[in-house]
Amino acid sequence: MRNHLDRHLATVRNLGILAHVDAGKTTVTERILFATGTTHKRGEVHDGTTITDFDPQERDRGITIFAAAVSCDWEGHRVNLIDTPGHVDFADEVERSLRVLDGAVAVFDAVAGVEPQSESVWRQADRYGVPRIAFVNKLDRAGADLDTAVASIRDRLHPVPLVVQVPIGAEDGFTGVVDLLRMRALIWGDDGEGAVEGVVPEELREEAARRRRLLEEAVAERHPAALEEFCEREPLSAATLAAALRDLTRTGDGVVVLCGSAYRNRGIEPLLDAVVAYLPSPLDVPAVRGTYEGAEQERPADPAAPLAALAFKVSATPTGRLTYLRVYSGTIEKGDTVWESGSRRGERIGRILRVQADRHAQLERAVAGDIVAVVGLKSARAGSTLCAPGAPLVLEPPGVPDPVVSVA
Ligand code: GDP
Repeated sequence: MRNHLDRHLATVRNLGILAHVDAGKTTVTERILFATGTTHKRGEVHDGTTITDFDPQERDRGITIFAAAVSCDWEGHRVNLIDTPGHVDFADEVERSLRVLDGAVAVFDAVAGVEPQSESVWRQADRYGVPRIAFVNKLDRAGADLDTAVASIRDRLHPVPLVVQVPIGAEDGFTGVVDLLRMRALIWGDDGEGAVEGVVPEELREEAARRRRLLEEAVAERHPAALEEFCEREPLSAATLAAALRDLTRTGDGVVVLCGSAYRNRGIEPLLDAVVAYLPSPLDVPAVRGTYEGAEQERPADPAAPLAALAFKVSATPTGRLTYLRVYSGTIEKGDTVWESGSRRGERIGRILRVQADRHAQLERAVAGDIVAVVGLKSARAGSTLCAPGAPLVLEPPGVPDPVVSVA
């Protein structure tokens, strides 16, 4: 049983997208929902109703754009996209969303590079120890340059950037990337044609080899196992590089950098692959801590442990009052009575929903690692802890309750 649940947990990615206003967070989010909802394999031939037909997305905007968390599936993994307000005015909300996610994609504008809000959100993510990958967006814009954007990230945010792609073409002619791990080219046709994988174009071979070598050196310098292999035989295998990049991402010793143009739907599939490959699952992050009557407790990401969940957003929607929860430990079932830290009383769980791009899926239960919305809670506020009645715990001081946010 445990093995089966661990296997499930290992496939979960609780992901936030961090960005300065206008860098393209909304566009990246929509393209992710679109890619995960309509195409199941990279390189699949689209039937003409997918990439260019945005009607279904427009229809669904009402649900997805205002949802605090949306679940989608990618290559056997569940990706829960958690909304992170980009605006510093919502500092409490930003901090709360940073608490419930396990990893993030920081989106940058390839022309503007690091902007003030990207800097402040980046620092907050540093404080919470959130592992990140960077997506340099808008490579199609006039004046876009990956190297300049990466230099701005390095100089202003001070991570070790680990660039894993080389763009093919520039500005209007940006058509693809060379994947430096596999040394393969990925070329996107006009919107709707999907990606075609092939050999690295002749004119980019030398440059790609040089950049691959730089990546290997940067990784070997910081990762003992990679260094050992690097000294024995070069080049490093793609598998060793990927494993080292995963470790460096999770320890915060490096930030993998990818690039693309969300607007033109270029670079989203490799971005999702990187999310799955490098960012941690709920099993890979430290156990959550809380207190009760002065005593500190730790709760592991174990569905069999006593329940501990954090309410991170409450929304009034046509479906009812939705309380979004991150379940850290234990299992929550429809009809359960749980202890709520604000009222210090029991509350009954009504329906449990997973918000997807186009619908709400009803669940019988949610387990450690899940992000779900619950209908029917009355006293829970953003910041409330919900836990097993026999094992109370407070994950966050209740503080001032947030106003209920209405869907426009
Ligand atoms: P957000 O404020 O971070 O959510 O940014 P949006 O996704 O709303 O994008 C801001 C503006 O940039 C919009 O006009 C988008 O159409 C545009 N945009 C987003 N991605 C790209 C891109 O890859 N290339 C170009 N040229 N424009 C983009």
